[in-house]
Amino acid sequence: MKTIAILSCLKATAVCSGAACFSALNKRTQSFAPYRDETVEIAAFFHCNGCGCNIETDKEYAEKINRVKNMALDAVHIGKCTINSGTECSTITKIAGELSSAGIQVIRGTH
Ligand code: SF4
Repeated sequence: MKTIAILSCLKATAVCSGAACFSALNKRTQSFAPYRDETVEIAAFFHCNGCGCNIETDKEYAEKINRVKNMALDAVHIGKCTINSGTECSTITKIAGELSSAGIQVIRGTH
């Protein structure tokens, strides 16, 4: 069994229900295809705390990321909503680095 989480863009939550991510996960398509023969537990669906948020100065944001880091996850998938004009949001790149440093596999992509 794999335990995973999905990270998305806070701005995107204004228009996104997360349905496409969960559909791809449930059908084991696109970035979730490698789990085709596995049971997957989705342990968290979380997002950044908005443009300009900073893990070094925002205690609540740091607490959220630390909680995710301590969840014994196999992987965190990052939604394509975090890509703008072909470039990953720098806030997300920073979170991804934090997660990688904690030994969590970071996978760019959901649906
Ligand atoms: S910091 Fe990046 S991921 Fe977060 S809301 Fe802003 S654009 Fe979206």
